[in-house]
Amino acid sequence: MRRSRIPSLSPRVPTLDTRKVKPPPKRADPHYQTAEHQQWALQVKKRAGWRCEYVENGHRCERSREKGDQMYADHIQDVRDRPELALDLSNGRCACNSHNTRAGIQARANRMRS
Ligand SMILES: [Zn+2]
Repeated sequence: MRRSRIPSLSPRVPTLDTRKVKPPPKRADPHYQTAEHQQWALQVKKRAGWRCEYVENGHRCERSREKGDQMYADHIQDVRDRPELALDLSNGRCACNSHNTRAGIQARANRMRS
């Protein structure tokens, strides 16, 4: 991807995002593009039976691929904090869109606190 060297081409007014829950920013980390990561993500989702593994109030999230939800493989410990666990299956968790987004926000909040 090439960045424009001409600053005047960038919009002067930032686009207002009115969505309540913002998706995590597009990650530039090239790790997410690798075949190794794709394979890791597939294993994590298969292991979970393609169902969200988040538990709230003792009740596991009901969302699953079977029910038509998009599933994501989520790192329990963020790759930016623990890059050595990036391909560790024990650091993987299958999450629905809503829980995947929440985990990203939480990870960012933790980093800002520390
Ligand atoms: Zn969920």
